[in-house]
Amino acid sequence: MKYLSTRGSAPALDFEQVTLAGLASDGGLYVPESWPQFSADDIRGLAGLSYVETAVRVMLPFVSGSLSEEELRELCTAAYGRFSHDAVTPLVQLNHQHWMLELFHGPTLAFKDVALQLLGLLFEKFLARRDDAITIVGATSGDTGSAAIDAVAGREKVDIFMLHPHGRVSDVQRRQMTTVRAPNVHNIAIDGSFDDAQALVKAMFNDAEFRARYNLSAVNSINWARLMAQVVYYFYAAVRLGAPERAVAFSVPTGNFGDVFAGYVAAKMGLPVARLIVATNVNDILHRALSQGDYSQGKVVPTATPSMDIQVSSNFERLLFDVGGRDGLALAEQMRGFETTKKMRLTNAQREGASALFTSHRVDADGMNLAMRWAYEGAGQVVDPHSAVGLAAALAARDLPADVPVVTLATAHAAKFRDAVERATGVRPSMPARIGSLFDREEAYVRLPGTYEAVTAHIAGLATAKQ
Ligand SMILES: *Cc1c(COP(=O)(O)O)cnc(C)c1O
Repeated sequence: MKYLSTRGSAPALDFEQVTLAGLASDGGLYVPESWPQFSADDIRGLAGLSYVETAVRVMLPFVSGSLSEEELRELCTAAYGRFSHDAVTPLVQLNHQHWMLELFHGPTLAFKDVALQLLGLLFEKFLARRDDAITIVGATSGDTGSAAIDAVAGREKVDIFMLHPHGRVSDVQRRQMTTVRAPNVHNIAIDGSFDDAQALVKAMFNDAEFRARYNLSAVNSINWARLMAQVVYYFYAAVRLGAPERAVAFSVPTGNFGDVFAGYVAAKMGLPVARLIVATNVNDILHRALSQGDYSQGKVVPTATPSMDIQVSSNFERLLFDVGGRDGLALAEQMRGFETTKKMRLTNAQREGASALFTSHRVDADGMNLAMRWAYEGAGQVVDPHSAVGLAAALAARDLPADVPVVTLATAHAAKFRDAVERATGVRPSMPARIGSLFDREEAYVRLPGTYEAVTAHIAGLATAKQ
């Protein structure tokens, strides 16, 4: 399988190359040159398969030329063997029409584990074939940092440097990063805000010499391999609810548009998807884009759902590329306009293409709290605030036929957001046993001033990769 950049001027790459590259050299994102097709019989053939076997069937066309079926199976077995539920992503029924797909049974209790556990193993596999080592640099306000660290801790030829704003992440979130003791894990607490930390990371990627010298790599959801791993659970869930005979709708708590774009990919591959509901909080750039064609950046408002508090959704570019006729040069022009003015109108083709499958819904704090209470009182389910935003949007979609099952993606374990859950439901979720010793373990991190010189000198002193 070959991959093309959404901005039309970077070279086409194979799966191994796009996994290691992350972003394309022209600033675009990689997408497969065509969507693999699953017939109704292929989908019927997934019935009853384990999560790992489903993953092998769904991902095999995307990795062809880079991994054999046996290699892919080995990696999936290792990645998903670390989940605490045998079904990996189990479905829970809420009422006659609504289900939740629990994506939080991985090591760090957030759905990001589903993709990052596999990505860590892919890095190790591909780097073993080369002379290279890589340096992963990232900034985190919470979930991504711990999931990425857990995924690469102890792996050969990979160093990870994760920046977090000192004193501004929760104790649980910080400890999930700083108690992972492995020689290749480097936590840095920066004096400053999350935006300062992110600006430092951006500056490192824009510093061509530094970037090449340490072979910098990214683990955020611009990496195609992450999206690919997320396509699997759409198939897994839909088959259990009657696909291919019956179409299924999904409601997805959305930030960077990675998770819901994976649902679009599943639909493109032939899975009968009745609707993809994009659920946003009050940071609603995607809701405005999908409902009015207005993609213009607002100011980020902090909410109880921090993983959705963003005003630019990187992966939206992949959708605009695919529904807008796959014209990379035209999209490059459109994206340059957005980068300078922070505003963009969707073209008619983009709007029509998106509205065939997507609807959107904006959920405020009241809507989120109501959904948490509805799930608890009606179905005995304690859900986290992000999942509750998804659920609120699912319940608001009244125009779906009664025979279409609606699946809300549950993206975090309620125990990660105990205060917000307790405020809404009166129930304080307990920490699952597997992360119970978090508060007894020793922490390791350095605290640095938020300057480019201090951070890059620290990384230069410790990174294995040096060209
Ligand atoms: C990252 C995250 C999201 C948003 O997912 P995107 O792929 O960025 O749209 C939603 N909920 C939780 C808990 C997350 O960690």
